[in-house]
Amino acid sequence: MALRLNEEFQSTMSHAPIYLDNHATTRVDPRVLEAMAPLWSTQLGNPSSPHHAPARLAAEAVDAARQDVALLLSADPREIVFTSGATEANNLAVLGVMRASAKGSHVLVSAVEHASVLEPAERLSREGFGVTVVPVDRLGRVDPERVQSAFTPQTVLVSIMAANNEIGTIQPIADIAAICRRAGVLFHTDAVQAAGCLSLPFDEWPVDLASLSSHKIYGPIGVGALFVRGRSPRIPLQPLVFGGGQEHRRRSGTPATPLIAGFGAACRLVRESLTTEPARIAALRDRLWTQLQERVTDAQLNGDPVRRLPGNLHVSFGGVDGDALLTGLKDVAVSSGAACTVGDHQLSHVLRAIGLDDARVRSSLRFGVGRFNTEAEIDCAAEIVASVVTRLRTGTSSTNDEHRMT
Ligand code: PMP
Repeated sequence: MALRLNEEFQSTMSHAPIYLDNHATTRVDPRVLEAMAPLWSTQLGNPSSPHHAPARLAAEAVDAARQDVALLLSADPREIVFTSGATEANNLAVLGVMRASAKGSHVLVSAVEHASVLEPAERLSREGFGVTVVPVDRLGRVDPERVQSAFTPQTVLVSIMAANNEIGTIQPIADIAAICRRAGVLFHTDAVQAAGCLSLPFDEWPVDLASLSSHKIYGPIGVGALFVRGRSPRIPLQPLVFGGGQEHRRRSGTPATPLIAGFGAACRLVRESLTTEPARIAALRDRLWTQLQERVTDAQLNGDPVRRLPGNLHVSFGGVDGDALLTGLKDVAVSSGAACTVGDHQLSHVLRAIGLDDARVRSSLRFGVGRFNTEAEIDCAAEIVASVVTRLRTGTSSTNDEHRMT
């Protein structure tokens, strides 16, 4: 059975599409796999109770990773709380801070946050907390002054993402964090998409909490972290998970040693390449955009043309249905502007928040260029996308098999 699965997998992967969906998830870097490998095959102990050598080995691996994650944020290792991913980290930040404060207190989020911030905020509103959703402009930007003017004497927390996972717009989080600090309001940022490619100097920016996810930065899936500034007095945070009191009582549960070690290695690799890799990826993204513009008419860029994630390209192709486009694009793995949560084909709240009409939302695609993409892949993807768009517009029925990379 295992062998058959393996053969099927190999055959599927030999026809693998060009992967341009790096905002959704990234491939584990081989160097991360190498760092994790010994931890799967060695007898490790439980890192929470390092009373013998195998457990001490695990505790050391977790400590080393904590250091690497902290370094990426110029933070202290004691400020890192490991979680199962960023969904949990965002829930912990929003629910944890608010539920530790008095009922009736107030939280502010932006209209383009990930569901793992918006849904906890909705839940808080049902529990009797005040919630304000700050709008964004047509490029998806939050205006720091709008944040400030929405403060009330009850405001406890502001949660605004560092960069958007759909349209790639980068928010002025250093400015927003400074405004919050001056007002005595805590500031949380979902830094999931930013962490792999933007510098996040939290020794300079007064950010109080930040969420990270390993599988968005070429680490393993199933692990993430919440940065919680270790200032005095300690930031009040009601845990979501109770039990053994791990992670300074903020997240109980035995730490996932090999995954955490992989996450640490992934952070180290990002830090080592932060001065070169974002520019290389942005050049590939620009190459894709230039070629698409040369080949298809009526292609419109969504999001901020300048302050955007280096790998992000979000485009509406006028007059084309996004689902038909996705169905036609068997050889390029991208996301549409419509489907963004499991089994839920609603139109994207982000694209609505920037004022796109339904037709334009439906005709949009998100390209996420990443570490393992090559120029040859970009050229091939541009050709395939252009030919599928043209075919859908003219109603012709050729396949795109002739465009497959060899
Ligand atoms: N925030 C953002 C901005 C994201 O893109 C994602 C993943 N789509 C998450 C949070 C959730 O991360 P995870 O998959 O680690 O739960």
